Amino acid sequence: MTNISVERDGLVDGMPRDERGYWRPEGDVGAPNPWFSWPPKPRAAALWLKEYLWPYNILFMIVAFLTWAYLTPEMSRMKEFRAGWMLEIFLRNQIMLIAYASILHVSMWTLKTQGYQYKLSLNWMGKSRKFLWNDQVRDNMFWSIASAGTVWTGFEVLMHYAYANGFIPYLDPREQPIAFALILFLSPLWYNFYFYWGHRLLHVKFLYRAVHHVHHRNIEVGPWSGLSQHPIEHIVMYASMLIHWVIGAHPINMIFQGQQVTFGSITGHGGFEEIVVKDKMKISYGNYWHSLHHRFFECNYGEPTIPLDHLFGTNCDGSPEAREKMLARMRSMHGS
Ligand SMILES: [Zn+2]
Ligand SMILES: [Zn+2]
Repeated sequence: MTNISVERDGLVDGMPRDERGYWRPEGDVGAPNPWFSWPPKPRAAALWLKEYLWPYNILFMIVAFLTWAYLTPEMSRMKEFRAGWMLEIFLRNQIMLIAYASILHVSMWTLKTQGYQYKLSLNWMGKSRKFLWNDQVRDNMFWSIASAGTVWTGFEVLMHYAYANGFIPYLDPREQPIAFALILFLSPLWYNFYFYWGHRLLHVKFLYRAVHHVHHRNIEVGPWSGLSQHPIEHIVMYASMLIHWVIGAHPINMIFQGQQVTFGSITGHGGFEEIVVKDKMKISYGNYWHSLHHRFFECNYGEPTIPLDHLFGTNCDGSPEAREKMLARMRSMHGS
């Protein structure tokens, strides 16, 4: 196989790429969560735990705490649907969504602070008639802000209203700190599990054509592509928050669950595998696995955190062997 180093726009990539310009991380790409392996792998399990929590989930948990403490209306105000408090939640959600996606987009896609380092392909956001205003970034921003920010707020408003009126179980963290912490810890795992099944559902032919194709217009993905989805897809994904309708939890848990969808989707479509902070200091971005779903469509529906793809044989690590296996599976699915 020929690996080539490519130079474009005067930026030295310095990373080996295939003939189509794609870079593949070395090592065991998309290895399943070792907590599900038998016999146990304690070292790998401990490392997985660290990476599961740090940095993203810890930071998102802190954001959820701050959101509840400083950016959420008094519960007594939320007993009735009134425009004032609902608008406050709408605005703070939009500001957080726009700020997070913009920081990642402007730095790595506009200013190109790290050039092609750890970039999964050589392409940048595109111009095409398939996008609104023929512009991928503006199109992606439209779906994220107009639809995702609104649907997210809708679910959150509904949940706050239900907590304020005592319609759903409430957990006081001071009385049950362990249960509270456990729910917080499990929330991203729940979303990974839920996402797999929601996503598989959206790949049923009818739903794909009516709904999910909006997301899949993005072969090349960047932070704004994460929530560039049809409103029905947003309803499906943010409905993961409704688990707190049955599980006794605190509004912080519910806020964290909703923010998981928003921040997780943006993070998961960054288009790079690592964020280079300074010289050799890097933060794992971990986008390669899902980028293969955007390139090949019928693989990697979930995340290796909950390894359902591995269980059902739909995992693809991007190697020539895995791609051959996937093509054979697709041929048998479509009978050609
Ligand atoms: Zn995606
Ligand atoms: Zn898909």
